[in-house]
This record gives sequence, structure tokens and C-alpha cells, in this order.
Amino acid sequence: MDPLTEKQIRACFANASRREASQATLPDLAALPWERLDYLGWRDRKAPLSAYVVVALDDGPAGVLLRAADRGSSRVRRKGVCAWCTDVVATDDVSLYVARRGGAVGRRGDTIGTLVCTEFTCSQNVRRTPTRAEAGTHADAAAREAIVQRRIGELRERSARFVSQVLSTR
Ligand SMILES: [Zn+2]
Repeated sequence: MDPLTEKQIRACFANASRREASQATLPDLAALPWERLDYLGWRDRKAPLSAYVVVALDDGPAGVLLRAADRGSSRVRRKGVCAWCTDVVATDDVSLYVARRGGAVGRRGDTIGTLVCTEFTCSQNVRRTPTRAEAGTHADAAAREAIVQRRIGELRERSARFVSQVLSTR
């Protein structure tokens, strides 16, 4: 994705109050591998139950504030398949994240949940070399690359769809 500035990120949260958006602890934006990110996601260092996801939609960046559904200080690692990267190898640490929806429905308490890689490593996961089981024994480099490209496209679509659903006021 294209690099974003702190200002762009803080301005793009549709389901967060101005106060929540200004208090978010951002990652080190200069250190991020933007060209290898399909969405930007991170946990808040200072508020471990809060996390954020920003995707690039057609009309610009859109972000959502998420809450980790697992309460308590000793978070239990959960095994499962991430709904966004659907990686079958990296299944050791996924979390149920819940987003308050935007607009009036959100003010009435409506939320949407999704099971995602706890540390938002989806972009790394979709870029790993496909296993033999996934690509077939005779797959050449081009065939493996095609699988990676397909996964990248699906990850972008799924993460963008989730954010659009959160923002949808219907
Ligand atoms: Zn994932």
C-alpha cells in the first residue's frame, strides 16, 4: 500500500471518537515495509486491548478501531485460521477482534467481529512460498508466484470488505 502519514491515519478512523483517534499509539511509520503491506494493522502498545486497521479504499484510506475480545492480562493464545489471510500454516495466534460500527447503528451498540492474526501478520503470511501440498509437487516458480499474487488479492479484498462493512450504516 502507499505510505500514510500520521495525520492521514488519525483522520481516517470512522468508528472512533476524535479523542480515541488522537490517543491511538501509532507504530513507527518510517520503519514499516509499506510496499509489502496489503493493509496496516497494529495493536496499541499502551492499550493492549485496542487495535487498529487501515485499508486503502478507492476514495482514500479508511480505518477502524478494534477491541480484542479476549479480556484479562494473560491473554490466551488461540488457534485458528485467520479470516483475512486464511493461512493454514500460521494458525498459532489469532484473535477475535470486534469493531463498533459507524453511524447511528454503532451508537446503538452494533458491532462486527472477525478472527484475525493477533499481530496482523497477514501480509507476511500471504507472501510465504506455497507448500507442496498447496502448489502441487510439479509447480514451477511462476505457478507459485501466481498463488502468492492470488492470495495478496484476496487478502486486500477481505480486509477492505470488513472495513467497508464496519463503515456501512445500513
Ligand atoms: Zn491473517
